Amino acid sequence: MRSLAEAAAEAADCERCGLAAGRTQVVYGVGDPYAQLMFIGEGPGFHEDKQGEPFVGAAGQLLNKMLGEIGIARSDVYIANVVKCRPPGNRDPLPEEIDSCAPWLHEQVRLIDPKVIATLGRFAGGWMLGRQIAITRIRGQRFPLDGRVLIPTLHPAAVLRSGGKQLEDLRADFEEMRKALEEPRAPRSVGPEAAPGEPDDLGATDAAGTADTPAAMDVATPPEPSDSQLELF
Ligand code: SF4
Repeated sequence: MRSLAEAAAEAADCERCGLAAGRTQVVYGVGDPYAQLMFIGEGPGFHEDKQGEPFVGAAGQLLNKMLGEIGIARSDVYIANVVKCRPPGNRDPLPEEIDSCAPWLHEQVRLIDPKVIATLGRFAGGWMLGRQIAITRIRGQRFPLDGRVLIPTLHPAAVLRSGGKQLEDLRADFEEMRKALEEPRAPRSVGPEAAPGEPDDLGATDAAGTADTPAAMDVATPPEPSDSQLELF
């Protein structure tokens, strides 16, 4: 199994989808490669694209503040996005872009092996759950993820745009993350572990590194959720 640094180095040259043309750099992810808590957002924005790090700027500062309130430093978690290159104009990533990029995220999750995954915002939460969601309704809930716990929460930028009205909700969700981190890890399903890039790990993957679309990624036409969608991780 290769290291996260080796995977990041390979991703830095990725041109699997059209987002490569407009990026400044690939924003692979940042943080502790052995983090127990991993955040997943939608994709890099303007500042992230320039700096090469997810969740910088005001949204990142709010994320750091919420982490601090539960006694965790930013350097102790891992932060990544569904797509690693900035969509133009900060639009939502297209299904084909997500399909192309998902193997990088799948590998990240497998290498980091976090106990708790927290999605930030409607898009990332809906993608992980394989359906369109009302983030304000499901935020803070726990979803089993084959030995992990998924906790969707609000996007810090949206909380800032709300003028602080959603700050207590965000705070409550971080408290839920803290509790989940303190609890024993649920057992994982029994089965042979595939190496990164092998079909059992990333979905059916061809030589070019593009994967068949797992149901969880099809956000344009959301399927019914199923346990198997979450077992991809
Ligand atoms: S968005 Fe992902 S798949 Fe597309 S070029 Fe960037 S790293 Fe590669």
